[in-house]
Amino acid sequence: MLHSDSPPSPQLDKARAKMAEVFGYHDFRPGQGEIIESVLQGRDVLAVMPTGRGKSMCYQLPALMRGGLTVVISPLIALMRDQVSALQTAGVNAAALTSADEADDREAAWRALDEGSLRLLYMAPERMAVPGLAERLGRAGLTMIAVDEAHCVSQWGHDFRPDYLRISDFARAAGRPQIAAFTATADAAARRDISARLFEQPPAEFVSSFDRPNLHLAVGARRQGNSQVIDFVKARPDRAGIIYCASRKACDDMAEKLRAEDVYALSYHAGLDSETRSFRQDEFVKGDGVVMCATIAFGMGVDKPDVRYVVHAALPKSMEAYYQEIGRAGRDGDPADTLMLWSLGDAALRRRQINDSDSDDDRKRMEMRRLSALIAYCEAPQCRRQTLLGYFGDEISPCGHCDLCDDPPQLIDGAVLAQKAMSAIARTGQRFGLEHLISVLRGLKTDKVMARGHDALPTFGVGEDLSKEQWMSVFRQLFASGAIDQPIDGHGEWIITAKGKDILFAKQGIRLRPPEEQRGVRSSRARPSDAADQLLSEADRTIYIALRKKRLELAKESGKPAYTIFADRTLIEMAAEKPQTPEALSRIFGVGARKLERYGSEFLSVIKSEI
Ligand code: ADP
Ligand code: ZN
Repeated sequence: MLHSDSPPSPQLDKARAKMAEVFGYHDFRPGQGEIIESVLQGRDVLAVMPTGRGKSMCYQLPALMRGGLTVVISPLIALMRDQVSALQTAGVNAAALTSADEADDREAAWRALDEGSLRLLYMAPERMAVPGLAERLGRAGLTMIAVDEAHCVSQWGHDFRPDYLRISDFARAAGRPQIAAFTATADAAARRDISARLFEQPPAEFVSSFDRPNLHLAVGARRQGNSQVIDFVKARPDRAGIIYCASRKACDDMAEKLRAEDVYALSYHAGLDSETRSFRQDEFVKGDGVVMCATIAFGMGVDKPDVRYVVHAALPKSMEAYYQEIGRAGRDGDPADTLMLWSLGDAALRRRQINDSDSDDDRKRMEMRRLSALIAYCEAPQCRRQTLLGYFGDEISPCGHCDLCDDPPQLIDGAVLAQKAMSAIARTGQRFGLEHLISVLRGLKTDKVMARGHDALPTFGVGEDLSKEQWMSVFRQLFASGAIDQPIDGHGEWIITAKGKDILFAKQGIRLRPPEEQRGVRSSRARPSDAADQLLSEADRTIYIALRKKRLELAKESGKPAYTIFADRTLIEMAAEKPQTPEALSRIFGVGARKLERYGSEFLSVIKSEI
C-alpha cells in the first residue's frame, strides 16, 4: 500500500516547503508523504503507523495548508496540552477544549474560532456530547476531523472508549467534513472494524511497517541487585530514560540507588498521590535528562520525543506491552537504546499470576502462549528484531542493530548440555526448582542434596565445569525452546515436555547459544548510546551541553517542555555546524521561521561564546 517511489507531486512539494518553514523539518518520514497527499486530496484516511513515526504531522500540515478548521479528537488530555503547546511554539494557532481547561482558555479558543483564525482545535471525545457543538463547529468552517488513537472506537480493542462511537454522528451533524483516523495498533480485523464505525465509504488505508529502526534492542539475564541498570544509566549521562520496574517498591529502590549515584531519578507508580505523580511526570516531560523509575502505570499519554532509553528491569507483561513500552524511546527518530533484563523467576511469577487470575481456561491458555512467545524472544538465537517483528507478522532480514546482530552467537550442538540438564530433572523425579537442580549438576553437597541422597545420583557433578550462571542460561534456553516447562499449578518444579523427551533420548537435536553470563548487557553498553555521542567531537559536545542548558533555562522560564523549544537533533546539528548568522541557523533541522525569530539570537550567542 505504500509507494516510496510515487511520482513527483507539486502538492507534496508545497507540503514539504510548508513543513520546513513551520517545523524546520526538511524531509518526510516514511509513510507521511503518501498520507498527507491523500489528506490534501480530501479523501477519508485510515492510517496505521507505529508510535513516534509522526502521525500528527499528517493532519497538522494539511490543516495549516488549507485554512479552515481541523478538530482533533484525542483521548489523552496531557498529550493534547503538549501538542497544543508545541504547535503554539511553532507559531500555529491551536487550542484545546478539555474538561480540565480554565474558563479563560476556553474563552480564548471560542474567540479565535469565531474570528476564523483557529487552525487546530483539540477536543476530548466526551466533548462531542455537548449539544449544538457539532453544528457550531460546522458553521465555523470545519473541514476535517482528525481522530487520534482511532482503535479506541473498536470494542475489540483493549482501549475501547464509548465516546468514540459518537464520532460519525458528530461528523454528520457538523456537515460531513473529511475524516482522517490514526492509530499505532490495528491488525486487518481491527481496521475493518474501525472503518465500519467511522466512515461512510471505505477510506484510503495506509499501513506502515512496525519497525522502529532507530531503537537498539538488547535483552539480558538479570543478576542480583541493580548494578546492571545502574551501569547502563551511568553510561548515558544526562539522557532522559524510563526504567520499568516490577513493583512499587522496586521503583522506589531503583530511584534511590540512582540518586545515590548523582542521577536525577524519580519513581512513579500508583501508590503515590496524584499531586506527586503529576509533579514528577511534569519534571520528566519538561525537564532534560530526568530518569523515571516507573511501573507500567507510567507512559500512556506521555509524549516526550527525546526519551533516549527504555529499560525493563523485569520481564514485561507480553510482547505487545514490550513493543509499546520500548516504543516510548526515540520518538524523535534519533538513536535510542532499549534493554530488557529478566530471570526465570519473573516467568514463574507471571505463570502464577495467569493461573490465579479469574480468566477462563481458554483465556489462560492463550495468555500462556503469549508468555511463551515472550520467553522465546528473550532467548532468541538470532536477530531480536526478526523475532519481534515476526511476532507481529512482519518479515525482515537480520537488522544489524540489536545485541544479537552486534555480536552473533555461534550456535553450538547443545545435545549433551540439554541431556545433562534434563536428566537432572528426570532423576530427581521432576519435583525440583532450578537452585536444587543446578546444585546436583555442579556436585554441591548442600543440605538439601544430602538429605535427599541426591549425591548418589549418576547425574551428580556431571556439570561441574559450568558456573551456576551458565547453567541458568542453559535452562532458560531449554525453556524458551519448549523442551522443559513448569506446571502452572505447581510450586516451581521443572518437568520435561514431549519435545524435551525427544531431545533427551537423542531423537531430536538442539542447538544452543554457548552458555554465557551476561549477553546483551555487554554489547549494548559498549556501543555509543546516541546521536550526540556518535556525531559530536569532544569539543562540540561542550557546545552541545551549553545549548541544552540554554534550552532548559528557556523552558523553565516559559513553563514549556524543553523539547518543544528545540529537539535534541536540532541542538546536535547546531553544535556540529556552529551557525553564526540567523540565515545559517535557519538551515538547521527543526528551526522554523517562528522559532528562529523567538529563540535565534539566544542560541546564536551561546554558540558564539563557546567557540
Ligand atoms: P506519533 O503520534 O506517530 O506517535 P508524533 O506525531 O508525536 O508521533 O511525532 C513524533 C515526533 O516526530 C514529534 O516530535 C514530531 O515533531 C517529529 N516529526 C514528525 N514528522 C517529522 C519529520 N518529517 N521529520 C522530523 N521529525 C518529525
Ligand atoms: Zn538484529
